Formats: sequence, structure tokens, C-alpha cells
Amino acid sequence: MTTSPKRNPRASVPLLLANIGQLLTLRSPSGRPGPRRGAELKELGIIENAALLCLGGKIVSVGKTKDALRDPWVRKNRRKILEIDCAGKVILPGFVDSHTHPAFMAPRLVDFGKRIAGATYEQIAAAGGGIRSSVRAVRESSKNALADRVLRAFQEMAAQGTTTVEAKSGYGLTVAAETKSLEAIRQAAASWPGTVVSTLLGAHVVPPEFQGRSTEYVELVCKEMIPRAAKRKRAQFVDVFCDQGAFTAQDSEQIFAAAEKSGLAVRAHVCQLHETRLAALLRFHPASLDHMDHINDDDIPHLAESGTVATLVPGANYFLGLDRYPPARRLIDAGVAVALASDYNPGSSPTTSMPFVMSLACTHMKITPAEAITCATLNGAYALHLGNRKGSLEPGKDADLAAFQVKDYREIPYWVASSRCALTVLQGTLSAGPEAE
Ligand SMILES: [Zn+2]
Repeated sequence: MTTSPKRNPRASVPLLLANIGQLLTLRSPSGRPGPRRGAELKELGIIENAALLCLGGKIVSVGKTKDALRDPWVRKNRRKILEIDCAGKVILPGFVDSHTHPAFMAPRLVDFGKRIAGATYEQIAAAGGGIRSSVRAVRESSKNALADRVLRAFQEMAAQGTTTVEAKSGYGLTVAAETKSLEAIRQAAASWPGTVVSTLLGAHVVPPEFQGRSTEYVELVCKEMIPRAAKRKRAQFVDVFCDQGAFTAQDSEQIFAAAEKSGLAVRAHVCQLHETRLAALLRFHPASLDHMDHINDDDIPHLAESGTVATLVPGANYFLGLDRYPPARRLIDAGVAVALASDYNPGSSPTTSMPFVMSLACTHMKITPAEAITCATLNGAYALHLGNRKGSLEPGKDADLAAFQVKDYREIPYWVASSRCALTVLQGTLSAGPEAE
């Protein structure tokens, strides 16, 4: 994992957020660790007139403002503490955006136009658009130019309440360009106070020079890309796009086995365009299986029994103009651990906004605002194996939070496509959002 160094001295200043209108702690009602499922998704652990104290990048205490102000340590150190009045605001754990593709150079405007004119995802890909059209620019770019793009995306995310990001490579598709992409992600992460988890997505699509030789490309991913990323500690996860037109379930098993051999955890894109049966992949205990639009009903109970999170990315359905969305209600009601993520990428989901994703989840997938918040925070953290550090506001956890200029948490998904984020705290470092006063 790439975790930014704590070189910002502001993280060491004690921070007291007081008079918080609604503090969504997301503390576990049962005390059980693990991602939330079923009815537990609605339990936000709300405290009104709340206060939260952070020190050294960690949360120290959470409770009522009056109790915080009476605390002997707070009284003694009041002058040293940076105190922020959060009256009229909602504070929640910073969003954990557990599925993003920020390592690209340019928007895909030709594809955008073709789609408006009626072309499908697969027609665009077959005509040389889609993922392949982003590859050339990434191969030709310098590491610094790519890192600048990635950093700008991280900053845009933080301004909208995101404090942890999973960032995939996947637009290089050679050993050198995938390595450069992971290096660029690492470089951007070092300049950003949030937390970045890196994923090698060498198996995003078969590159043009391997057309008709996909077996050889899978060998390259397994024998060169994965061992190299593991040896240099440039990725924590290996991902594969398992779908028609990309990689088969058999390819994906081979890639998962190579990742396992190199000590890297796995995740995959599945069932976005067509059905893939999940049993073979679940044997590798993936942290997350993402998209799920075309999941087979018979796989839902197996997924519910597993520790794998199902990450839904409705921004892609929205931007592709699809009528069909993943069956979120069926997954949640069956006990699957569901997370929400942006799938930020230039082809199918050019948004960095988790509030917008939550809004889509409510309107198009019938997830309630409370469920959406848990899916976008704590369950996202579990989808990155970070549930013990991120995703809820409890003493001992990382000081990652977002404050919104709203009275009621339900307004966060309600105000569509307009961020009311006032500030974010990323590992104890304060960063102002667009609504900051
Ligand atoms: Zn994706």
C-alpha cells in the first residue's frame, strides 16, 4: 500500500471539531468487526451537538460537545488546540472511494460524441475507442505529467469529501507503462495528505499489439507485471477486467493465482457487460468484486456467505446512459456486503464525486441515504482491507472525515451534483472544500 508520508506539520496540531449538528460515527451497533450487511447498513451511530478530538492523525475522542469541553486534557491544552465550530454541519467519515482509474492523460470526447449518437460500449471499443484509446497517451507521457493528472484527481476528490482512494493503473498495458503508471500514483500520493491504495490493472484489456494473442498477454501480466509490482511494493492489489471483450474467467483465475503467488491481494471487474459465474473467483477470496450488473441470481447467496465486498459503481451506468443498474436491493437484502465507488475513469465514469454516486444509488438502485453512507465509507474501507483503520469515527481510527454544510445527512445525496462539502480532514490534516466559509 502507498500511504502518504505525514510530512504536513498541521497533522500534529490537536484538532477539536465542536458543536457538530449531526456526527455520523458509524460505530458498530453489535461491536462485530467486518463490513456491514442487511439492516446494519442503516445504523449510522448519530450523535447530535457532538464534538470530535483528533491528535497525531488519529481520533482521540468522540462524544457530546459539553463533555469534550469539560475534559481535563482539553481544558489544560485549549490554547494549543485548533478549534472549529461546526454548528449547522454534518460530519461523517471521509468517503473511501474503493474503485478509481485516475492514471490517464485526457478525456475521451470522441467516444462521448459517438455514444450520444447511439453507439454502444462494445461498438466503440471495436472501432478502436474505449480503453485502448487512452493507452497511447499514457505510453507517451512522462511520469511527472501523469502524476500531475493523478494528483489533481485526488485533490478534486478531497474537495468533495473523499479521504481514501484506491487507484488503478491499466492504461499502459506494457511492463514499462504499467510500472510508470504505478510510480505516478505513488508520486501523487506522496503530495496528498489522504490515503492511497495502489492496484495493478495490467489485465484491463488486451493491447492492440497482442490482438489475437491474449494468452501471451496474460502470461506477460502473470510472469512480469505482477512479480515486478510485488517486488518493488508498488501495488497492494491486482485487478482484472473479467468480461466479454476483455479477459475470460479462466484468464482471471490464472491472474489471481499469479497474484497470490506474489503475495498480492486480488479484486476484479465482473458482470459489467455480461454474466460471469463467480464460484471460481471467490475461491481466491477477492477483497471486492465490482460492477455486478449481470450477476447470476444463484451466485448471490455464495457472495453473501463470503467475505468479499460487492462494489457497485452506478456512475458508469449513468454515464453510459444505461437503463439497467446493478441489483443493489437484492444484494443487500440477501446479506451481501455492498460498497459504492466512483469508478472515476475517462470512458465510462468521469466523476470524482461520491455524493453524486450516492445520489444515483438512492434514485436508481433504491438504496436509502443511510445505507448509501455506510456503503461509501465503512464498506469501502473493508473493500480495501482497511476496515480496522478507516470508515468510522471511533477513538484509535485514522482522523479522516468530511464536514458538509447541511443540517441533515440525507441532504448529502439529495442535493444532486452540487457538493456541499465544507472541509475534509485527511489523516489529521485539514483541507477546505468548496463550501468553506
Ligand atoms: Zn473500473
